[in-house]
Amino acid sequence: MMQPCQSALSCLPGIGPKWAELLRAELHLQTCEDLLTYYPYKYVDRSRVYRIADLRPDMPYVQFCARFSSLNVVGAGRKARLAATVTDGTGVVELVWFKGMQYVRSAVRPDTDYLFFGKPTEFNHSITVAHPEMEPVVGGQMPAVSPLQAFYNTTERMKKSYLNSKAIQKMMTTLFVQMGGSIPETLPEHIRTRCGLMSRADALRVIHFPADNRQLEKARLSLKFEELFYIHINILRTRTARHTRQAGNRMPKVGRLLNTFYKEKIPFEPTGAQKRVVREIVADMNTGCQMNRLVQGDVGSGKTLVALMVMLVVVDNGFQACLMAPTEILATQHFQSIAAMLDGLPVRVELLTGSTRKSVRTQLLADLAAGRIDILIGTHALIEDTVVFANLGLAIIDEQHRFGVAQRAKLWAKNVRPPHVLVMTATPIPRTLAMTVYGDLDVSVIDELPPGRKPVVTEHYYHSRRGRLNAFVRSEIDKGRQVYVVYPLIEESEKMDIKNLTDGYEYMQSIFPDCNVSMVHGRLRPAEKDEAMRRFASGESKIMVATTVIEVGVNVPNATVMIIESAERFGLSQLHQLRGRVGRGADQSYCILMTGDRLSEDTRRRMEVMTGTTDGFEIAEADMRLRGPGNMEGTQQSGLPFELRIADLCHDAQLVSYSRDVASSVLNADPDLQKPENAPIAARVEQLRRDSPNWIMIS
Ligand code: ADP
Ligand code: MG
Repeated sequence: MMQPCQSALSCLPGIGPKWAELLRAELHLQTCEDLLTYYPYKYVDRSRVYRIADLRPDMPYVQFCARFSSLNVVGAGRKARLAATVTDGTGVVELVWFKGMQYVRSAVRPDTDYLFFGKPTEFNHSITVAHPEMEPVVGGQMPAVSPLQAFYNTTERMKKSYLNSKAIQKMMTTLFVQMGGSIPETLPEHIRTRCGLMSRADALRVIHFPADNRQLEKARLSLKFEELFYIHINILRTRTARHTRQAGNRMPKVGRLLNTFYKEKIPFEPTGAQKRVVREIVADMNTGCQMNRLVQGDVGSGKTLVALMVMLVVVDNGFQACLMAPTEILATQHFQSIAAMLDGLPVRVELLTGSTRKSVRTQLLADLAAGRIDILIGTHALIEDTVVFANLGLAIIDEQHRFGVAQRAKLWAKNVRPPHVLVMTATPIPRTLAMTVYGDLDVSVIDELPPGRKPVVTEHYYHSRRGRLNAFVRSEIDKGRQVYVVYPLIEESEKMDIKNLTDGYEYMQSIFPDCNVSMVHGRLRPAEKDEAMRRFASGESKIMVATTVIEVGVNVPNATVMIIESAERFGLSQLHQLRGRVGRGADQSYCILMTGDRLSEDTRRRMEVMTGTTDGFEIAEADMRLRGPGNMEGTQQSGLPFELRIADLCHDAQLVSYSRDVASSVLNADPDLQKPENAPIAARVEQLRRDSPNWIMIS
């Protein structure tokens, strides 16, 4: 039996094959259900009819009642247009049509009042409305229009075929007539009552034909709730399935290594957030199930220390741990700082990267397989098949956006019982989004920076101020500090980018002839790259000209200036990452965003966000507002696994958590959705799975 909701749009009276095809191609609308959930993007208040004398060109859409006093075609050929004058006795309005002239001319009746609706503008000192909507006033009866008129997005191609917002509204009217009472309910009675929600049929009707704002708000809330509720149900069920499937090794002991490290070696008191996150991770490794956890911590929040402490717990419990970093530079840095912190403790730490020499590597792999190495740090090299652990208990992936899901999966296979997996990322994602995007990962947040950090002072410079910038760089170098200059590099314009980079390098050398300038980019051989990094890290060179290869994780506390060239070409989260390379020591640091003089609106706002805050979460929220959650860096890899039609993860944060709580209480009481009162939920879940196969593939 075919449900009316699932029937094709072409079955609807008034939708011919051409429009049906346009709706499919342009808006991905194929079924009646699709059309029902194609929501208006705005509403215009039509409850008021203006006197023409009261119209102003800066008003939004208005309606007025008037009668034609003239109607003429003016101009000829492609410039031809239909011009009319209408009046209501208080004034006149010029109307103009550039398209559909024939139709309007034949439709207009003399001596008849019309209700006009459109946007007033000023042209030749008179109020003009182009392409007004018009309905005749028959027998003194005002046409029935809904007091809040819905507007729907349409594309240029659609408009060419007269498939405009008005046409969609007509389809909605037909649709509601056709479907009558057959719009199925998707939330059970007990939830609707408990949460004060409208029935789905009512909410849908109101969203398309609202009577007033109060009703409209309630309808939106009901539909948003419904949408989010099912996303949560899906995520929570996937997660439960995982928890019950995978057994994990327990790590019950807090043993000698961690205690000694804590008492004797730790270089600073961990922040409250670091301690809390370590506790969360350790608890999660003790449930008997495999851990899949994400640690989110802004740049500089001290994720390395957290990683180290939990690795020590694992070693204390007789297992091995590994830490995988996205670049050789970073892996080496982790190795050096961790080895230094553990110096003197009975724990063996080794480094394995692509450039580990063969003889060293052979020995290292043998020791690893025999369990003589406790902690292995490295790059992608760690996931090669030749790397065999004796008993890997925990795998940590640093800066995960550089690792794909497939690589994560390979790690799992490194032990008979899959190791616990901890993913660390500095790309902050708003909390509400993290809940949903990383649905199957549990999330810990390090939401506190170590004490004494001075926020990086951020300024936006136009190219024309380069002279001043150079003077500033000179003064910092004279104080003994170091400077990064970063150039964008994206593949399409790679040749030009490389040229910009080398030009920039030569320019810095010519302006600062006494300073050693280093250069790093992706095309260098690893050895050259490492050498350039080493010279900068050791302070031999004062200026590092680089591409975004230095974006992730590099730690040179003496560097206090980050200059980002062509900053307009970077996304917010990337700018934030780059800025995180400075401000790591005790000295005041600076980030200078260089752009050309002419900025797009979007760039200008990004620069404002960057100069206005250093809080990664705020930046992530702004990023989400500017670009929409689906396009955010950090989520691109995983991609938003679902499409939201009405809820907004950014603005509806409270509703996101509320609907999650409700979903989780339902599942707690009825994990398999077998109770009769939850039958509508079970049915909806089934339907969503059928309709969108991706729906279950979260993360
Ligand atoms: P990220 O989270 O960006 O990986 P790191 O682990 O590299 O940050 O730490 C950034 C800097 O902060 C390092 O120099 C580290 O030694 C220092 N640090 C980390 N934790 C603390 C702390 N609790 N107190 C003081 N400094 C800390
Ligand atoms: Mg780090």
